[in-house]
Amino acid sequence: MTEKYDLIVIGAGPAGYVAAIHAAQSGLKTACIDRTVGKDDKPAPGGTCLNVGCIPSKALLDSTKHFSHLQHDYAEHGIVAENISMNVSTMLARKDKIVSQLTGGITQLFKANKVSFYHGTGELTANNMVNVEIVGGESVQLQADNILLASGSSAIEIPSIKFDGEYIIDNIGALEISEVPAKLGVIGAGVIGLELGSVWGRLGSEVTILEALPEFLPAADKDIARLAAREFKKQKLEIRLNTLVKSAQVIDGEVVVVIENKAGEEQLSFDRLLVAVGRRAYTDGLLAADSGVTLTERGQIEVDDNCLTSATNVYAVGDAVRGPMLAHKASEEGIAVVNRIAGKYAHLDFNTIPWVIYTDPEIAWVGKTEQQLKEQGVDYKSGSFPFAANGRALAGGSPAGMVKLLADATTDELLGAHIVGANASELIAECVVTMEFHGSSEDLAMIVHAHPTLSEAVHEAALNVQKKAIHRAN
Ligand code: FAD
Ligand code: AMP
Repeated sequence: MTEKYDLIVIGAGPAGYVAAIHAAQSGLKTACIDRTVGKDDKPAPGGTCLNVGCIPSKALLDSTKHFSHLQHDYAEHGIVAENISMNVSTMLARKDKIVSQLTGGITQLFKANKVSFYHGTGELTANNMVNVEIVGGESVQLQADNILLASGSSAIEIPSIKFDGEYIIDNIGALEISEVPAKLGVIGAGVIGLELGSVWGRLGSEVTILEALPEFLPAADKDIARLAAREFKKQKLEIRLNTLVKSAQVIDGEVVVVIENKAGEEQLSFDRLLVAVGRRAYTDGLLAADSGVTLTERGQIEVDDNCLTSATNVYAVGDAVRGPMLAHKASEEGIAVVNRIAGKYAHLDFNTIPWVIYTDPEIAWVGKTEQQLKEQGVDYKSGSFPFAANGRALAGGSPAGMVKLLADATTDELLGAHIVGANASELIAECVVTMEFHGSSEDLAMIVHAHPTLSEAVHEAALNVQKKAIHRAN
């Protein structure tokens, strides 16, 4: 018998599980299918984000940040810590516990919201029929008025550098290394390379990040990228730009990597090699030949501005489609689709989606960079403020970094906000709100900010747009 739904969601990552819960809350009879099996052999909805992405990486970043501060920064507070060491297996077990707590939480949320969860692999066929091969055996057939594809992404493999799960690893392997490698090579100075490189670097690995591009973090504002690079250098995170990795081979327990730079070819060797060169949309086994859904040249599910695919009433969201590969983009896109299905208006503005890199210091931005405004010929003014002049940053021992704001020269509307510094991931939120409300730098400057807080740096940067900051020469 074919079970009928208003909406079937395939994939329970942040795109799929959030959409499924929102749909059920909106009165739609909803099913969600995901095949992930957790380490405890239980279903583990939550996708890349909860299982092998955002959450486990942040768990390891937080553990190693405490370790690094204890080693390098707490002496000035008078804290004497000698012979400290990191028990890597305890750190990994803590991370696993957080992951299973959160994935188990989604299972509970599905139950509480009456989302029918199918633990298996879903394949879309013609007429919105979905075959589900349940983990462990049998198959069931479902059908729905609407389908939401949220199958996510997987790490890109370089053809000449095959993952082996032990020496040459992706994000999954890099979250599981059981002994600190003496030398860790990382291909790609993107978000994942920087975050996971930081984790192992803080535990004592000599980390070398190999990046093909000539510029560091080209998507970030240039001033922010420059400041961040300086901080990473202090942390002995070696970032080699203009360095194309051509091949890698495991020889006698070492990864021998061939790189090409301006000087020609060179060989480097590492104990482990993390390949973090980006992610590709994952659609393996998702679409039967008659599904009617087409893919782009890059293998992403083709969608229009409303996330509708080429098949009737079949939508796709998250990492499987165009746009930034970010968990919050995935979730909000899923919610927007459900709202449209429920007959409501929904719009997601990619320009106000915040980006965060959880290194130390953190890097966060929203809207346009200064180089983008220049390229687009927009007349702008800018204001900035260093954390070194912020009382709370000094009291807390995190004086590195700055806030930089960009506003329209005529209307003063906030066009971009760029932060490198402690808690940048949280501080960016008020800039996102300001931009969503089409607020101005003057609005930010007139808002009362609690003292002493790091957020006063945002306030002062806004005042500096008018060259009226109090605690710096304007
Ligand atoms: P996914 O999370 O990939 O979920 C898709 C799910 O669908 C998976 O569970 C998959 O198994 C399942 N699936 C696929 N096909 C089928 C099928 N046919 N049947 C059944 N199930 C199927 N983003 C941030 O915003 N902040 C961060 O800090 C951050 N950190 C990251 C760190 C790392 C190491 C990585 C790798 C990524 C990180 N990301 C971060 C990116 C973030 O994880 C993704 O953008 C997000 O998970 C995308 O959500 P999604 O739901 O589209 O896909
Ligand atoms: P992101 O897509 O943000 O995760 O970043 C991936 C980074 O990897 C990009 O900056 C790419 O330039 C870089 N990259 C891709 N392939 C190679 C390669 N073969 N050697 C060095 N860097 C690479």
